[in-house]
Amino acid sequence: MATNRTFTMLKPDSVEKGNIGAILEKITASGFRIVAMKLTQMTTADAQEFYAIHSERPFFGELVEYMTRGPIVAAILEKENAVEDFRTLIGATNPADAAEGTIRKLYAASIGENAVHGSDSDENAAIESAFHFSGREMF
Ligand code: UDP
Ligand code: MG
Repeated sequence: MATNRTFTMLKPDSVEKGNIGAILEKITASGFRIVAMKLTQMTTADAQEFYAIHSERPFFGELVEYMTRGPIVAAILEKENAVEDFRTLIGATNPADAAEGTIRKLYAASIGENAVHGSDSDENAAIESAFHFSGREMF
């Protein structure tokens, strides 16, 4: 996986609220190319594996319930400096702390239900992309 790619999910709250189009518009208008994309739903086992790093945290159970309660949009995005620039575009984990104009400031309800995921490193972007997509689904 090239290091100019990152992985994102539009989380169940974004799908429920009808925010897929608005969020994708913001992402593409910010210079990201969509390399892969699909509507999918994570199983409990999927979410537990995807967020395994947080398994000891007090919010883990709620996080797994939230992330599995409905479909998500999973996507791989390409842009120079993709991981860092996408984290800037989405804003802080807690929307109360997120900068004006960021996706979480605009669309997230709380630190738990925070609209979008963005990989935190090139290594995790590759792992998370491979978790959701086969090579044939990447363009
Ligand atoms: N989360 C939560 N409570 C917290 C911290 C995180 O419910 O106190 C959830 C939230 O959905 C967050 C996810 O767990 O996006 C992963 O947490 P992380 O610290 O990796 O934040 P992110 O990388 O998504 O900004
Ligand atoms: Mg994270």
